[in-house]
Amino acid sequence: MKILLTAINAKYIHSNLAVYSLQAYAQRYAKGDAPEIQIKEYTINQPFDEILMDLYGEQPDVICFSCYLWNITYVEMLLEELPKVLPGMRLWLGGPEVSYNAAEILGKYPMVEGVMCGEGEETFLELTEYFSGQGKCLEEIRGIAFRLLSGSVKVNERREVLDLSAVPFVYEDLEDFQNRIIYYESSRGCPFSCSYCLSSIDKRLRFRDIELVKRELQFFIDHEVPQVKFVDRTFNCRHDHAMAVWNYIAEHDRGKTNFHFEIAADLLNEEEIRLIKGMRPGLIQLEIGVQSTNERTIREIRRSMKKARVREVVAQIREGRNVHQHLDLIAGLPYEDYAGFAASFNEVYSMRPEQLQLGFLKVLKGSLMQEKTGEYELFYQDRPPYEVLSTRWLSYGEIIRLKKVEEMVEVYYNSVQFTNTMRELEKEFASPFELYEALGRYYEENGLFGVSHSRIARYEILYRFICGQGVKDPEEYRGWLTLDLYLRDNVRNRPEFLGENRVEKEEAAEFYKMEAREHFYLRDYERYDSRQMRKMTHLENFRGKLLLFDYRHRNPLTSDAAVWDVTGWREEKGRTEIHEFL
Ligand code: SF4
Repeated sequence: MKILLTAINAKYIHSNLAVYSLQAYAQRYAKGDAPEIQIKEYTINQPFDEILMDLYGEQPDVICFSCYLWNITYVEMLLEELPKVLPGMRLWLGGPEVSYNAAEILGKYPMVEGVMCGEGEETFLELTEYFSGQGKCLEEIRGIAFRLLSGSVKVNERREVLDLSAVPFVYEDLEDFQNRIIYYESSRGCPFSCSYCLSSIDKRLRFRDIELVKRELQFFIDHEVPQVKFVDRTFNCRHDHAMAVWNYIAEHDRGKTNFHFEIAADLLNEEEIRLIKGMRPGLIQLEIGVQSTNERTIREIRRSMKKARVREVVAQIREGRNVHQHLDLIAGLPYEDYAGFAASFNEVYSMRPEQLQLGFLKVLKGSLMQEKTGEYELFYQDRPPYEVLSTRWLSYGEIIRLKKVEEMVEVYYNSVQFTNTMRELEKEFASPFELYEALGRYYEENGLFGVSHSRIARYEILYRFICGQGVKDPEEYRGWLTLDLYLRDNVRNRPEFLGENRVEKEEAAEFYKMEAREHFYLRDYERYDSRQMRKMTHLENFRGKLLLFDYRHRNPLTSDAAVWDVTGWREEKGRTEIHEFL
């Protein structure tokens, strides 16, 4: 008996924690001889034939697919073809995309024998026993929906929640996870009730034993795993748990691993904020769902967020300059029209997160949002990802405009490559939203969307856009663009539109000769001579200052080069590193 647990991920760097947990649990707790359980991971970018051939090559007895919003269309295509090439093979599904509408799914796909609904570990264990001809019959296995011999569908009673500490650690062998993000779960369930979210349906919140969690964190730290993403829905919903984890990683940090947490910022207390602000830059990053700042909207979608507290906490954490903060907004929520969304955008933008993600409402099957579609005159795509098309408050035309704003935010804000130019440019517009909207219009009018632009081209486009805005001093913006360009990279071929570098060759030569002797600014370049140092760094005149860009030292949050003000280098007036240019 060979069972394949199959995951089709959105990107190669992702991994599917669920299938690893199911495999580990079934192998650990199998009563007799466990059947062979293999994991197969693919991505949605792989050719369809390649996956079909690979699955065929395995000659499995059972294939279980892990179904999510991003892969269900792909899974559906495989469901169509697999029975033709592997007749007699049994097909099962699981995951959030099929858990809340299992009967409907079984009606739609006659080739599927059953669906695992909700938490899967114990259910899958019992199913493996059933497949091997031992254990319970399907009628007795909780947490499944399956097809009876008569052809009708039976949905069994749901399962009691699992003790999360009973799930084995799945990363003992890191071979399969090289260069991939590791996902880790220290709690399951969410105590909140956001109307668009499936996690709000099951409020059975539980935590993994903290001593177990600490041992596993130590494993990641010891193995210098680059990034661990906690999948806990609201990581800080229990203070003692969050404090224990954060204290542990702060105390045992070895400078290599970054931990990502989804949190509710307004729940953070002063003790937690103090701890976070004292962490190594880059040790943690925080994802904070704001979704909207419109009070009526927040109430309607049943979020319990205290807006003023979120602003306060984000500002406090920002002061520490050590934590990447990622703030989310959702367009298409009830009681938020175009102007209302622009207001939410401007408010969140003013908090200056490192990333501002604009998402569009997805109307998930089984969510309260889906029940309210009539009341909200909410139209959404019939196919995954079930994205909003229009609401009582927002037309499809306006959604298209917001999509353009979103793309401009991705390119000119979230890429962190234009930070100073954009901050300066914002001042020319009534609001940041209007700036990104105007940029979107410029892209549209000049046929720039849908084209794959090089990084340098993006700078040039921005420069042309700025010149077309009637700004007082376009020359000044050339300076900002030059600064942003060199902060990121020691560009070999300076783009023409930025003009000549105004640092005299003689001054540069003298400066690097002095540095090769003194190492006053470039202190750990002892192995290099003046010519090599000149190649490895960059000198630029900027607003009356001579700046030295040091690419061996970068800001762990933005990847920007360290920048020294070397204006008084002949007099050695002191080493000043510049963090903010505005
Ligand atoms: S959106 Fe986040 S906080 Fe709200 S129910 Fe879902 S997981 Fe919980």
